[in-house]
Amino acid sequence: MSADLFDTPEHALFRQTVRKFVEEELRPRAREFDEMGRIDKRLYKRMGELGMLGLRYDPRWGGAGLDWTFTAVMFEEIARCDNAGVSMGITVQTDMATPSLHQYGSDELRARYLVPAINGEMVAAIAVTEPDAGSDVSAIKTRAVRDGDTWVINGSKIYITNAATADWLCLLAVTDPEAGYGGFSQIVVPTDSPGFSYQLLDKIGNWGADTGLLFFEDVRVPVANTIGDVGRGFQQQMIQFQDERLIACISTCAGSQALWEETRRYCEQRIVFKKPLSKMQVTQFKFVEMLTEITAARELTYACIRKRVKNEDATKEISMAKLFCGRMARYVADECIQLHGGFGYMKESKAGRAFVDTRLISIGGGADEVMIQYLAKMLGF
Ligand SMILES: Cc1cc2nc3c(=O)[nH]c(=O)nc-3n(C[C@H](O)[C@H](O)[C@H](O)COP(=O)(O)OP(=O)(O)OC[C@H]3O[C@@H](n4cnc5c(N)ncnc54)[C@H](O)[C@@H]3O)c2cc1C
Repeated sequence: MSADLFDTPEHALFRQTVRKFVEEELRPRAREFDEMGRIDKRLYKRMGELGMLGLRYDPRWGGAGLDWTFTAVMFEEIARCDNAGVSMGITVQTDMATPSLHQYGSDELRARYLVPAINGEMVAAIAVTEPDAGSDVSAIKTRAVRDGDTWVINGSKIYITNAATADWLCLLAVTDPEAGYGGFSQIVVPTDSPGFSYQLLDKIGNWGADTGLLFFEDVRVPVANTIGDVGRGFQQQMIQFQDERLIACISTCAGSQALWEETRRYCEQRIVFKKPLSKMQVTQFKFVEMLTEITAARELTYACIRKRVKNEDATKEISMAKLFCGRMARYVADECIQLHGGFGYMKESKAGRAFVDTRLISIGGGADEVMIQYLAKMLGF
């Protein structure tokens, strides 16, 4: 199904390149990244060399000028790296923190921050969520006050991926508290700015990503670091969220498929009451039902990709896919951990890890309820 999306020799070659990178450089170090609580920063450089960090970006800035089908190939392969946190960190770099800069940034800003993010010399993070504002982005309080040609930033952000590795942040801040949705701006903040600090957080899953609290105390950055127009940050961030959500769907479907395959292999070997677990009809039913859900989620995701390839607005479909994929992944992880029995409950089991890692999908980047709220509005309720 839908193989036509990726059936060119270029896609096959690119898939082979990414698969080799995942098999040789990510998967063997998956546990090491968990222990480090982050990805080895040098790997961004390596991914830059392989042309993986700016797939859809303009070649003028070092990008590959490709379309969403190549992004899908890349994240389908990365999802098999046995470390969801690493996949999340890479997504932040390629599709969460950089799209606005690519689309709206000045040439000077793109040369300074986008080019090194594409070649892997700099790592980026996206700083939107705050201790008192997550689902309702418009409730953020981090304030950037203008002092001549400088923004003076005060406030805090929470649950920020790449907190320790980032060289710069795509920060969403309030620049005019009286201007409603026109009172926010996206600002590039280098993390070596005086007054910036972070503190890492201890998560139940996605251990390979460094997630933290960020603090801004009179952090001064040039007004020229504003991405796009002052006051357009909220709207630009809403657009940027679409890319993040679509990648979450792609990675989720590929991760669930890999877990399904792994669990099937396990059940074919595991003897229970004198026969392989896979020979029990109830087990076979579970596998069929899971694969049906995974396939449905993937086809919905591919429908979004088709629209994005044609540059059509896919907000409705992406919101539906994000909702559906998150629920699908939780269901598949739950069934797979059960099929693994006690081993599934061990930290080393892929099912056990998926059980905690996939839980994030229905929360991060817009919770299920936020997707439903958007959809209800779009449907005219
Ligand atoms: C591991 C991890 C990594 C993250 N990485 C980043 C990052 O890199 N950058 C960043 O900016 N943020 C990041 N986040 C933050 C994430 O996007 C937020 O956690 C998410 O948007 C939810 O916001 P919140 O946690 O404040 O929950 P809240 O807004 O407090 O919502 C709590 C719950 O309320 C319910 N709810 C929300 N809205 C509605 C509604 N309209 N109707 C009914 N119920 C509703 C939902 O069930 C929701 O889960 C990350 C979070 C985690 C856990």
